[in-house]
Parts: sequence; structure tokens; C-alpha cells
Amino acid sequence: MMSKVKSSETVKVVIRCRPLNRKEEAAAAGGVGGIVEMDMRLGQVVLRNPRGPPGEPRKTFTFDSVYDPSSKQRDLYDETVRPLIDSVLDGFNGTIFAYGQTGTGKTYTMQGVWLEPERRGVIPNAFEHVFTQISRSAADRQYLVRASYLEIYREEIRDLLDPNVHLRESPESGVYVRDLTSCVCKSVKEIQELMNVGNQVRSVGATDMNEHSSRSHTLFLITVECSLPGPDGRQHIRVGRLNLVDLAGSERQAKTGVHGERLKEAAKINLSLSALGNVISALADGRSAHVPYRDSKLTRLLQDSLGGNAKTVMVATLGPAPQHYEETLTTLRYANRAK
Ligand code: ADP
Ligand code: MG
Repeated sequence: MMSKVKSSETVKVVIRCRPLNRKEEAAAAGGVGGIVEMDMRLGQVVLRNPRGPPGEPRKTFTFDSVYDPSSKQRDLYDETVRPLIDSVLDGFNGTIFAYGQTGTGKTYTMQGVWLEPERRGVIPNAFEHVFTQISRSAADRQYLVRASYLEIYREEIRDLLDPNVHLRESPESGVYVRDLTSCVCKSVKEIQELMNVGNQVRSVGATDMNEHSSRSHTLFLITVECSLPGPDGRQHIRVGRLNLVDLAGSERQAKTGVHGERLKEAAKINLSLSALGNVISALADGRSAHVPYRDSKLTRLLQDSLGGNAKTVMVATLGPAPQHYEETLTTLRYANRAK
């Protein structure tokens, strides 16, 4: 039997702040500059209200780790992600979420630029590691890696590897959706090709892809199955699951003047993000008797990989620009509640 993961290790919350972009830099040259300061050694984020009175105290938050704008993809991967991938290879479940306002670096953090080693994100780095470890493993172990790719849009799940599949709920089998396509992958390149296929499916029917991706959650789900000899001499199967989730933008959706379909959609996006916040905070608390998994598609789908022996990393992304002060504060509060 494998030992239980300590509850303090099950949920990790880290913050990453992207650099000012060119437009923001130009604006900053004439005025207030960035409003986010970070102390990576102390794991602290200090937020300044650009419109507050001069003496207003700054708000300080502390997290498991914080990554300032100078930090590299590799820093976040090595310190925060890699231990989780290792535990998946050992047969545990793990989930990594990117949470934050649109434009703050969720997709950059999760994917980055695949073809540039320096700018590769969590997903390519994780797969590189998985396949390297497999190639180095003992000869009596056999691995099988399978991938599924899906999105949740307006509380509906879509299989991005086969959009014709009709997914059914199957709560009794412990798998929330039945018939989800899963493809065997033997290399990083094969996984990358699958993502490309899924991304094309995703873009079909979306009139504005930026808008679509800011309103949908994308989930890349990996299972690593290992067949290895047990103490009785027979082959045993051990399965670890890895969920890589690029969440919908956390910005307040229900702006005034939004009606009808748009308002309903906005409510659904907010619903899964707040349900996720409630689940993670109940897990991080460790004493809550009730973890409200059933409140959204996202949390139901990931139920087996949240809590118990599973590890969760939440990367909350921020931008440093003054005009996003309110959203940035909202993100920090959400992340703070999750730890
Ligand atoms: P999101 O997915 O949260 O909407 P993106 O990942 O698309 O945001 O990032 C928005 C822009 O900022 C992109 O052009 C991206 O390349 C850039 N960016 C985000 N994070 C970083 C970072 N840490 N370093 C450099 N550029 C970044
Ligand atoms: Mg994105």
C-alpha cells in the first residue's frame, strides 16, 4: 500500500505575474507603473491600489510560492509541477489548474510556445518528463499513456478528439463521462498532434476564438498505466491520472447591459469557477465534512482527482497593470481562499 499524502501537500496555490506588455509599458512610462510587487523568497504578493488615497495600506497575501514577471517557465515547472507529475507516475492522481483573468497568462503557463524550449509551458514540460521517465524505467515495467481532450462550455462537455461522440453521465462507474475518446500516445510529438486536432475541433463553430477560449474550460486528461510485478510475482496494474486544466477567464462576466443568452452563459461560467473555489477550499481546509463536488460539471468531472490521495496545484495568474486592480484583487482573494 502506498502511504497517504499529507493534507498540507494535497493543495498548493501559487501566483504568477506576467510582465507589463508593450501597451501597458507605454502607459506606465507616463504614470503609476505596475501595482503588483512580489517577494519570491517569502512567497508574498503586495498589491497597491492605484486609485486609493496616498496613505492607504497595501494588501499583502502569502502563498506556497509566487513567481514574479522575471521568472521562467522552467522555474514554475521544476519547483511546483514536477513533484506532482512524479506522483502521477507513481500511481496517484493530480490536477493542475490555471486560474485568472483573460490575458494574464493561463494559456502561456499551461502551453507556452511548444517549439521554443525556454518558453515551453507546463503541458509540454510534463510530457517530456513522463516519456523520459518511462524510457528510463526498469525493463519489467510496461507503461501505457492515454490522452483525452475536452472542453466545458456553458456547462456542456464537448469531446475535442471526436465531436460526434455523445457523452453520457455515468456516475455509478466512477467515471463521470462515458465514451470519452482516449488515445494512446507514445511520444511528446504524438500528444502535441492530438492537441492540434482538438484545437481545430475547438475553433469550428466559434466565431471569435478569443471570446470562446475566455468563456470555456479546456481539460487535457492523461492516464498513465503501469504494469509491474507485485510481491506475489504476478503483474499488477497501477494507474495515475493527470488533469491539466486551462480555466475560463475569471473576469466578472455579468456586466450591466448583458441580457438573455449572454447572461445565462455568464452565470454558468461563474458557477463552475465558484464551485471549484468551494471544493478546493473545503479540501484545503481538511476538516470540512462536505466537499460540494456536485455543484458543477467541472468539479463532478474531476471528482476522483480532487481530494483523497490526489494532489492539486492551482496557478493563479495576474497582470501588473493598474487598470485591472479590482480583478487582480478578486483573483488574489479567490486564490487565498483556496490555500
Ligand atoms: P490567458 O490564457 O490567461 O488569456 P495568455 O496566456 O493568452 O492569457 O497571455 C496573454 C499574453 O501575454 C500572450 O501574448 C502571452 O504570450 C503573454 N504572456 C503571458 N504570460 C507571460 C509571461 N509570464 N511572460 C511573457 N509573456 C507572457
Ligand atoms: Mg487562454
